[in-house]
Amino acid sequence: MRSKVAIAIGAHPDDIEFYMAGTLLMLKQAGYEIHYLNLASGNCGSAEYNSAMTRSIRHTEARTAARILGAHFHPSLTEDLLILYNLELLRALAGVIREVKPGIVLTHSPQDYMEDHTNTSRLAVSAAFTRGMPNFKTVPPRPTADYSVTVYHALPHGCCDQLRRRIIPGAFVNTTSAHKTQLKALAAHKSQQKWLDVSQGLNSYLLAMEDMSLTVGRLSKKFKHAEGWRRHLHFGFCGPEADPLAEALGKNYLVNRAYERNLERGV
Ligand SMILES: [Zn+2]
Repeated sequence: MRSKVAIAIGAHPDDIEFYMAGTLLMLKQAGYEIHYLNLASGNCGSAEYNSAMTRSIRHTEARTAARILGAHFHPSLTEDLLILYNLELLRALAGVIREVKPGIVLTHSPQDYMEDHTNTSRLAVSAAFTRGMPNFKTVPPRPTADYSVTVYHALPHGCCDQLRRRIIPGAFVNTTSAHKTQLKALAAHKSQQKWLDVSQGLNSYLLAMEDMSLTVGRLSKKFKHAEGWRRHLHFGFCGPEADPLAEALGKNYLVNRAYERNLERGV
């Protein structure tokens, strides 16, 4: 039987709420146990407070957000801009994966506007890959297990890669019924309202999330609010046809035919 456990692995506190939390909530509704992990503490996300203070504020905000989502909270493993593809982080993240044993891993796009996001995606993929490899040691040490896991990549920020090319999703998840709770969880990151105004010119991070989910919803031509996903190649993870999001979400999941046609054409 497939494990009904899902984990969202984001780079910074509020990334899960931006790109993945609607789907996480839909999985919870479908009977999944859900887990929440931001790799970095968010310590650089302030022009007002020092690193230690910012880390502490954002830890509290992230815990609140996870509670609103009804997700198991896992503490961050490093600091902002230190999400590097290195052995220490891989051992730590693989340890979390071995503890949680997820059948579904939700993480960032392999192409995205900043390196913390792309490195999170790479680390999540490798950590899931090593779940059954006893010769790869995790920190802390955790036993291996043999099970299927499917990795899904969220859409990148702005739905395009770091070279400005458009990324279209392989599938859509209808997040309309989860949208209110998703917004509430995002709003728990109170410190980010001011910071994102200053650093990225987002007049409201809540509106930005709203805008993205409506845009993806329009792209689906079916759902009002949606999140888009691309499924990682199955080798080393699961069967070739495994698509546990489809299985769990039924009519709230829609394969994007345009993406499938592109795959067949090799574009
Ligand atoms: Zn981020």
